[in-house]
Amino acid sequence: MPQPDVLEKLVSLSKRRGFIFQSSEIYGGAASVWDYGPLGVELKRNLQDRWWRDIVRWRDDIEGLDTAILMHPKVWEASGHVSGFVDPLVECKNCKRRFRADDPALKGAPGTPEAQCPVCGSKGTIGEARQFNLMFKTFMGPVEETAAIVYLRPETAQGTYVNFLNVQQATRQRVPFGIAQIGKAFRNEITPGNFIFRTREFEQMEMQFFVEPGTDMEWFEKWRAWRMEWHKGLGLASDRLRFYDQKKEELAHYARAATDIHFDFGGSLGFAEIEGVHNRGDFDLTQHQTVSGKRLEYVDQANNKRFIPYIVETACGPNRTLLALMVNGYTEEKVEGEEEGRTVIKLQPSLAPIKAGVFPLVKKDGMPEFATKLADELRRKFPVFYDESGAIGRRYRRQDEVGTPFCVTIDGQTIQDSTVTIRDRDTLKQDRVAADKVAGWISQRIDDSGS
Ligand code: ATP
Repeated sequence: MPQPDVLEKLVSLSKRRGFIFQSSEIYGGAASVWDYGPLGVELKRNLQDRWWRDIVRWRDDIEGLDTAILMHPKVWEASGHVSGFVDPLVECKNCKRRFRADDPALKGAPGTPEAQCPVCGSKGTIGEARQFNLMFKTFMGPVEETAAIVYLRPETAQGTYVNFLNVQQATRQRVPFGIAQIGKAFRNEITPGNFIFRTREFEQMEMQFFVEPGTDMEWFEKWRAWRMEWHKGLGLASDRLRFYDQKKEELAHYARAATDIHFDFGGSLGFAEIEGVHNRGDFDLTQHQTVSGKRLEYVDQANNKRFIPYIVETACGPNRTLLALMVNGYTEEKVEGEEEGRTVIKLQPSLAPIKAGVFPLVKKDGMPEFATKLADELRRKFPVFYDESGAIGRRYRRQDEVGTPFCVTIDGQTIQDSTVTIRDRDTLKQDRVAADKVAGWISQRIDDSGS
């Protein structure tokens, strides 16, 4: 089914309403770098909190961790990133633009007279492919010499591996168990783009599950299925989600098996990865044991065994999942009895950045005072937006467009009997609720969505 490209609409809506801004915009913008505004930061936090709750808090076999972005440079030699975290890059000798050698827009094999630059159109100017390392380099300390080179981490996973025994011994967890962390990662992508889908600085929500060798494929299958269910549980439409099982020749150097979870972003991006589930075998821990010279074995005292655990990893990008939620929820629809249609982002109440709009119907007769007091009370429980400007219909529309699930209106009857109306974003149905029950009424619905 062809879908309209909503990414472009979301770029402008995000800026106008404060979800996402281009970085350093007043200086002309930093290419493919984005900042999260007041609504974006709430949405991202809600998503990350959901993951943390489901992965760490609600399970007793997974521990949380937060490791540093800067690590000992040997980590990246051991992990294979210094030699192997590369993409093939080609450059046009005419316009100096750089592309991935496998960019579908490139015509003809690089290095041949037929190769044509997709930007300037010149023929025979695309050089041979060379390997380009995606890690960002920087210097540690005040001297700029090779000895001081460190990398910005390209994944959170390695911070978890080098702490595997610290966490295991501190918590006395027994294999199988997992370690989860959320944090920034950096990759000097050759062709970033598609808004926040591919950027050079992004976040990851990664979980490493340590298992006994031989049970790894079983755990891989379990995590593959659980992660798909998790994305569906966020409200992403089933028919926009699919598995993509990587073929043998596509597997990364460390992987025994890998599945990507794809979401259909529509438009030119189409189905694209939002999460990877990987069976990494014992590659990482063995490498770190060899290079560091420190034993990283797990001792299974009960069965008198020691072994290097295999690792099943789930690696999700919150930026991409957030974009998927916005694309998935974005709807333009007609409203019965009204001429103007509306734009609404259908987000679960638990994920929506603002939970309730609070509106006095008119700016008189004690309504603003009542509404302000109620908004202050609700704000202690969840984010609310107080709005008294413009026609009530316009105020509803403004909240619809940012996904606010409930709008509370204080009207003439409120002043008589202390009841208010609560309008549901999706059904447009209005319920009359006693003012002192509003906080509980909304909280209940937030909790019910997404548990
Ligand atoms: P891709 O093939 O799209 O480059 P990947 O397979 O290299 O992604 P992983 O290394 O498996 O990605 O990283 C796990 C997750 O981190 C991805 O599923 C994605 O959600 C997120 N991610 C990876 N690279 C980026 C990026 N450049 N920008 C935003 N998110 C990213």
